[in-house]
Amino acid sequence: MSAEARAYVPNGSAPVAAPAAQDRIFDVAPEEELLYSLSADGKRKFMHPVVHKGHFWRIRRNIGYLLVALFFALPLIKVGGYPAVFFDFESRRTHLFGAVFHPTENLVLLAFGFSVVVTVFFVGSTFGRVWCGFGCPQTVYLEFLFRPIEAWVEGGPAKQRGLNREPWNARKVRIKAVKWTLFALVGLLMAANFVAYFTSWEALGPGLLHQPLEWKGAIFTISFVAALIVFDFGWFRDQMCTIACPYGRLQNVLSDKDTLLVAYDTTRGEPRTRSRVLLPTAGACVDCNACVTACPTGVDIRRGLQVECIGTAQCVDACDEVMRKLGRPTGLIKFTSEREQQGGIRHLWRPRNLAYLVLMLIAWGTFAALIATRADAMVEVVRGGREPYRMLNSGDVANQQRFRFTNQSQEPHRFTIEVIEPRDVSLVLSESPVVVAAEKVVTINAVATVPRRLFVNGQAHVRYLVTSDHGFRREMEFLLLGPFNGSGGAQ
Ligand code: SF4
Ligand code: SF4
Repeated sequence: MSAEARAYVPNGSAPVAAPAAQDRIFDVAPEEELLYSLSADGKRKFMHPVVHKGHFWRIRRNIGYLLVALFFALPLIKVGGYPAVFFDFESRRTHLFGAVFHPTENLVLLAFGFSVVVTVFFVGSTFGRVWCGFGCPQTVYLEFLFRPIEAWVEGGPAKQRGLNREPWNARKVRIKAVKWTLFALVGLLMAANFVAYFTSWEALGPGLLHQPLEWKGAIFTISFVAALIVFDFGWFRDQMCTIACPYGRLQNVLSDKDTLLVAYDTTRGEPRTRSRVLLPTAGACVDCNACVTACPTGVDIRRGLQVECIGTAQCVDACDEVMRKLGRPTGLIKFTSEREQQGGIRHLWRPRNLAYLVLMLIAWGTFAALIATRADAMVEVVRGGREPYRMLNSGDVANQQRFRFTNQSQEPHRFTIEVIEPRDVSLVLSESPVVVAAEKVVTINAVATVPRRLFVNGQAHVRYLVTSDHGFRREMEFLLLGPFNGSGGAQ
């Protein structure tokens, strides 16, 4: 029998006839339906995708395991005495691979935020939903942690569907209880690790074990996050991608004819046929539905580009497997672009994504430069007190201020402040010199006393020089407030 004359035989068993519509385990929604996860009567259809361990599945699995390992390892690995990634809310500091950031580093935070946004734009417009299918935690944890646990407890997709259809009995209760208990344990572990990013395992572990009453907040957060995790990965699942996630909607705006996407080659595949003996005019698609049953969002990719497609390439692996069994070339479903689908050549670089790339390089370059040129310390001065200024009996004008010193180095700094000009300004500090321990922030109060004659239109400029024993030196200008000519202020 020639390859073209053979029908696809699932799992190598005896050839099967096409199932009647009512027997199909995975009926495809009618064309006019917007969501594949909805049945015609509006009820939710649970997806039980069939795993095909093909080329893309292996890549995704490796990336997925790496990301899961990173998530659990980062709070455990120590860099510079702190977890590699540590959002220390108590001390209002963020530790990233040995570098310490403070909330006052607005420029660094701004550069980082802008870099992330333009990176999303660049990746989305160039590679489509590759992020969703290969790197997003929703896909990674669902496909490579929760679904494997489910398959281990309940069996493959057919058994899962069978169990769901069964009336409740002792066996079903037992199996479901084991599955949900395992989900809850994994959820608790993930939630505790998530909280450790904010508390560190060093504090959280002993705290939970020995002083649980003092860690009520952490216990509540862990329970709440674990419940969300179990709800999402145990029940909500594909609906997170198709209904809730805004990235999918953003992707529609970012895509153009050259954006990478998963698509079915209609020219080669149609007309599809299930006939045992294929007609010479038949297309390559044998209408076996393997691509549909493999899809985690239930998409039939043969209907063209769809917003529910999250780029997992599970249909690619499924169809390639079918094609290999039939002895035909793979790639009936593949990564391509809309332009290629229409017979053109995909342009990897076009004005839109080039502009995103340039912006991305500038943004990350700026971020890197800001990091590389970070000083050992930062000092800020802001207005203090409840009134803009106070008139003193001597006729001078007093302005309250607050100096905040941030020591970003591993050594203690001793800061001093002096007035450069005008010389007539006297500065009284609540503490001098200001000693700031390594990686700490200290705020002190100060009062500047200024002769009234120095104010022009209610303002006087003063320049301070801040130095430290570790070579820090910064000149700062500050605007003092006072009376307009002849007018008085707060007495
Ligand atoms: S259609 Fe294919 S690529 Fe898209 S979500 Fe379904 S399996 Fe993944
Ligand atoms: S596209 Fe491939 S996997 Fe999908 S029905 Fe056709 S032959 Fe089967």
